[in-house]
Amino acid sequence: MIAALDVKVTLAEKSKLEGVSLEKIPFGRMFTDHMFIVQYENGSWQQPEIKPYQSITIDPSNAALHYGQSIFEGIKAYPTPGGEVAIFRPMDNFHRFNISAERMQMPTVPEEIFIEGMRQLIEIDKAWVPQYPDHALYIRPFMFASDDAIGVRPSEKYTFIIILSPTGPYFTAPMRIYVEEHFVRAVPGGVGYAKTAGNYAASMYPTAKARAKGYDQVLWTDALEHRYVQEIGVMNVFFIVNGKALTPSLEAGTILAGVTRNSVITVLKEMGVEVEERPIAIEELLEAYQAGQLTEVFGAGTAATISQIKELRYKETDMFFNPEDAPVASAVLNKLNAIRYGHEADTHGWMLGV
Ligand SMILES: *Cc1c(COP(=O)(O)O)cnc(C)c1O
Repeated sequence: MIAALDVKVTLAEKSKLEGVSLEKIPFGRMFTDHMFIVQYENGSWQQPEIKPYQSITIDPSNAALHYGQSIFEGIKAYPTPGGEVAIFRPMDNFHRFNISAERMQMPTVPEEIFIEGMRQLIEIDKAWVPQYPDHALYIRPFMFASDDAIGVRPSEKYTFIIILSPTGPYFTAPMRIYVEEHFVRAVPGGVGYAKTAGNYAASMYPTAKARAKGYDQVLWTDALEHRYVQEIGVMNVFFIVNGKALTPSLEAGTILAGVTRNSVITVLKEMGVEVEERPIAIEELLEAYQAGQLTEVFGAGTAATISQIKELRYKETDMFFNPEDAPVASAVLNKLNAIRYGHEADTHGWMLGV
């Protein structure tokens, strides 16, 4: 169990919530009254604090700004029918955070800081959890190097922060996807499995190029042959072929191990859908499409849970899918929402009460 965490709490004098409607609030623009912050110095974590949400000062020589030792997580807490709040699978994000930390040569964060800090922060800002259907409280833990020095080496000091953002239904219109064969997201031996800022920075130029061609996102392919599919933008990807679900396997270290991906796989198996995690060649998908067997394509991630794909462009070929007729994707989405909003029993122990 989690040890008690001694947090120094300074409450905001006045809540920003007065006069604010949380209904249909856009993603990631508004933040709650408080933040959790703790520094790592001299080889250990210092006094954790919850204090009013505020700007932080950064020295111009801050190491994270120059060399990018910076990682994050994305988690959601949901309102439950009893008026309580429950966080979806935060332990999985905690473990992944420390995997990212290790790859970036950053210190790992103890469970009581990550989980208990998050719980105490949400408890204080509970009034910010939107009590509307399909709304949630988005939780953003992150850590960055905080040495003030521009020599290239791992920082000695780090800052870990958690901020909270109420969010409305994150509806993404069905997307048109460009199969990317020039730019790459991740290579074996690289950092594709880490949730680190640089991965996002590197994806923006190729995504902008795809947008200029009229597409919403890219489907990344492997760096060596551009033959095997990886992810869609910053989401994991699923293909329904002949009623079976295919998703790229994690073993090459080029795929981010999504908590949504893992949850979708679990739910699919329980629904009796066979799931194959393995390398998936784009040619195989094209053949399946031409044989009328590739019926659904969707992305999976915390922000939107499931994002329907209506078109895949590979070389000169367009593959089209009907988002209105996507029974597997919609069944998975309904099931996950039922568990998260407490309408169905949480048989997996996924929900952590605040
Ligand atoms: C965060 C992320 C995902 C989705 O992970 P979830 O845990 O499901 O939110 C997928 N791919 C990339 C590259 C990511 O950064």
